[in-house]
Amino acid sequence: MKTLTVLEALERDGCNAKAVSIDRLDQLKEDIQSLRNAGALDEKVFNDYLLTMIYQASKDFPDAKSIIVIAVPHQQLKIAFNWKGERMETLVPPTYAFAREIDERAIKVMKDSVAPEALHLEKAILPLKTLAARSGLTLYGRNNIAYVLRKGSFLRLTAFYTDLVCEEDTWAERKMLPACKTCRNCLKACPNGVIGEDRFLVRVERCLTFFNEQSAENQFPGWVDPSAHNAIVGCMHCQRVCPYNKAFISSYTEGGEFSEAETAYLLEGEFKGEKAKAMEEKLKLIGLDLSIFPRNLQVLLDQRQ
Ligand code: SF4
Ligand code: SF4
Repeated sequence: MKTLTVLEALERDGCNAKAVSIDRLDQLKEDIQSLRNAGALDEKVFNDYLLTMIYQASKDFPDAKSIIVIAVPHQQLKIAFNWKGERMETLVPPTYAFAREIDERAIKVMKDSVAPEALHLEKAILPLKTLAARSGLTLYGRNNIAYVLRKGSFLRLTAFYTDLVCEEDTWAERKMLPACKTCRNCLKACPNGVIGEDRFLVRVERCLTFFNEQSAENQFPGWVDPSAHNAIVGCMHCQRVCPYNKAFISSYTEGGEFSEAETAYLLEGEFKGEKAKAMEEKLKLIGLDLSIFPRNLQVLLDQRQ
């Protein structure tokens, strides 16, 4: 059985997908390693995001032959916190929420496209942005975010090992969005000087996302402008101004609301027992967890004073 049938089913479902041979894993690892060797990757960035990657299928899956990488359209979520009689709306950027649901749906579509028992799948723990770019699925923006042409950057990437033969391995050099040659919108919009003229790789170690995804005991560096914060996690400044996102930037999914009592609890920062478990469940649905509280919420509320 071949990968093409599965890829076509994913495309019919509104996703974009590509397949590469499992033989590419060494090159994928080398892509990351060479950046590290060249000193282009900050050590903490590597440890936080790339150290846990596993460049092989599990021992239970000796027949893995290909990797299918999928870009699933994904809107930003709008959520609200109620505090001191006011309602504050904020964002959860694309890529955080619905991780499990997106994987389950992709698995169902892939299995339904062939006889379900005939297809073996295993979630791949790989550097997805690099894999997607190398497979030809996505292009890089100057902001180093993954884009699919005509769909922008509002997507979530996921990947699976399969036992299908990859008849069209699309592995290629990474490509940049055509408009980045002349556009500088994201560079100008970034509050932290992350995006440079002098190099392709952004300085992740200065990115708001890098800081606000860390657990809350890590305070923001003093040089970060408090007015720069614009989402409960992550940052949308450089995606908001991108011409490729024009058609998607005003679309949201409603992600729910936190009452005065829940907001007060998140601001206290003492998370123990059943109450913490219940809150963790609520946050999980929208791709968040307690580790970023109270810091990320406090900086957004401080902006309103
Ligand atoms: S996510 Fe925010 S801080 Fe990071 S590069 Fe984009 S604009 Fe700059
Ligand atoms: S804002 Fe402009 S330079 Fe930045 S990624 Fe988009 S097209 Fe490229």
